[in-house]
Amino acid sequence: MTTPWKDRFATAMMGSAPTPLLMLDHGEGCYVWDVDGTRYLDFLAGIAVNSLGHAHPVLVEAVTRQVSTIAHVSNYFATAPQIELAERLRRISGAGDRGRVYFGNSGAEAIEAAIKLARRNGQHKKIIALTNSFHGRTMGSVSLTGKPSLREPFEPVVPGIVHIESTIEALEAAIGDDVSALVVEPIKGEAGVVPLPDGYLERARELTEQHGVLLILDEIQTGAGRTGSWFAFQQHGIVPDAIAIAKGIAGGVPIGALVTFGRASDLFTVGQHGSTFGGNPLATAAGNAVLGEIESAGLVENAALRGSQLRDAILAIGSPLVAEIRGAGLLIGVGLTEPVAAQVCARALELGLIINAPNDSSIRLAPPLILGDAEVTLFIELFTRALASTSAALTTTEASL
Ligand SMILES: *Cc1c(COP(=O)(O)O)cnc(C)c1O
Repeated sequence: MTTPWKDRFATAMMGSAPTPLLMLDHGEGCYVWDVDGTRYLDFLAGIAVNSLGHAHPVLVEAVTRQVSTIAHVSNYFATAPQIELAERLRRISGAGDRGRVYFGNSGAEAIEAAIKLARRNGQHKKIIALTNSFHGRTMGSVSLTGKPSLREPFEPVVPGIVHIESTIEALEAAIGDDVSALVVEPIKGEAGVVPLPDGYLERARELTEQHGVLLILDEIQTGAGRTGSWFAFQQHGIVPDAIAIAKGIAGGVPIGALVTFGRASDLFTVGQHGSTFGGNPLATAAGNAVLGEIESAGLVENAALRGSQLRDAILAIGSPLVAEIRGAGLLIGVGLTEPVAAQVCARALELGLIINAPNDSSIRLAPPLILGDAEVTLFIELFTRALASTSAALTTTEASL
């Protein structure tokens, strides 16, 4: 008899890994199948990673072709996919001719590059980040992360980082000539898909400019078209000094990048940063295929359209559990009136729907950008049932008290 996969996972994987919900076997489009052959509608997409859904032919073809041509070369050599992706990112970010791109392999590595960039803008100055933010798990990125529970077990963390509340007043009080960079997520994904206050980025741009502070945006979760524009900052009429990107850029092939704008593009000098795998032809070919398909299939527009369709349909369910809907495009946070997000997600999973609870009272939806009418309809049907059965269970519990 084979050992059940949960036991094998628990025995072989590091204790830092939470218990997995399912063992998945394969996927196609917006659906995945587990090892028992059960199908699930995937409204998490590997946490905003599988932009084109699963096994998209464009990505399959690009990766297959690249791995059978040349997969990796080291930083001593250039490759065509690498330069093409850097040029593409300069174009879609609006950084243009004054843009530069650094490639790493993950969101955390993009943030590490951002922290080093900040140090190049004032080595002994402070970096400002926000409370309740999430920037990754490596030492630098966890130091920037505004959740004490993630940071404290690893203290002492990287010095010179301060966390402030996400208000314009707190920003006005904190910013000054002793600051090298302000790093913020335009929409805090891990906090439950919570946008910045109205006017925050606009005011942040003014203040950072006045004090020579870099405005660095963590667009790791919001980028690659997910919010209905290539990057979330583009809906605010501002230009940042840098954006950290990863997740959805290459549709599941690991990649991360820091894109700089204007004078921030001159801060690193030769040899000051690098990565063995960063920008290798395999990952960058995947990035070109994914971003190319997002562009040619109009998936940025689709994210905006499907996002508003979903918002309207979720509100129309009329569930007493739904308090508010947050986010933009296909990064949606459903704020609940009761701390039952985990129960709603568990019910959904039983019904064949993958959604996620970043905290007790928020549900996060981040489906593939290829979402169509059929998936929206099925989602609403399953989500309605998950909410109703959670509500019913709550009423039963209350009645029995
Ligand atoms: C996922 C995420 C990160 C970290 O990315 P990894 O690839 O897991 O290292 C950082 N910032 C934000 C906003 C994220 O969503």
